[in-house]
Amino acid sequence: MLVLITNNHSIIRYMAKPNKKGPTATIDIYCNQCKSPLFKYRKGGKGALVKCFKERITRDFTTTPCTCPECGIQFAREALVRGTPAFKIIRGKVFFK
Ligand SMILES: [Zn+2]
Repeated sequence: MLVLITNNHSIIRYMAKPNKKGPTATIDIYCNQCKSPLFKYRKGGKGALVKCFKERITRDFTTTPCTCPECGIQFAREALVRGTPAFKIIRGKVFFK
């Protein structure tokens, strides 16, 4: 009986454990208009880039938030995503690789 309870506890703990490291793959985000670098970013998952969590930006090339330092285009909007500060990317303004 004791063993069974211990097992249950460890299973529950394992399930609730968040991903400690977070995403490790870093992408480079560029302005779609002038191809200048904007961010280096640790992106989670695959697919389109919709938002950037600020805490995951490893390098920020911008001088004015959400604005390309070269051509001055606005490529994102500041937002809170689930309580976390983030940039919401404006569709078509950036590309990444
Ligand atoms: Zn630009």
